[in-house]
Amino acid sequence: MEDIVVEENDDELTVFQEADDEEMVEVCPVCGSPDLYYEAGGTEGLFHCKYCGYIGGFVIDANKKMIQLIRDEYENKLRVSE
Ligand SMILES: [Zn+2]
Repeated sequence: MEDIVVEENDDELTVFQEADDEEMVEVCPVCGSPDLYYEAGGTEGLFHCKYCGYIGGFVIDANKKMIQLIRDEYENKLRVSE
């Protein structure tokens, strides 16, 4: 694992470029799958995960490393209760 030290007051341009390289996508908080669809209905919309069946009101903005971590976690313990 690689530690990236971000110093905010050092070089903002470098930070921005690194952030740009790590594309953030909305993923399922349970399994890390980006394969979500949003169902607007009733009083509030819910996210549905096609992969694990998660249904809930929030998703996670994650980059590739975070997605990998979530997936590893999910695969390690296939029962995750909301
Ligand atoms: Zn899922």
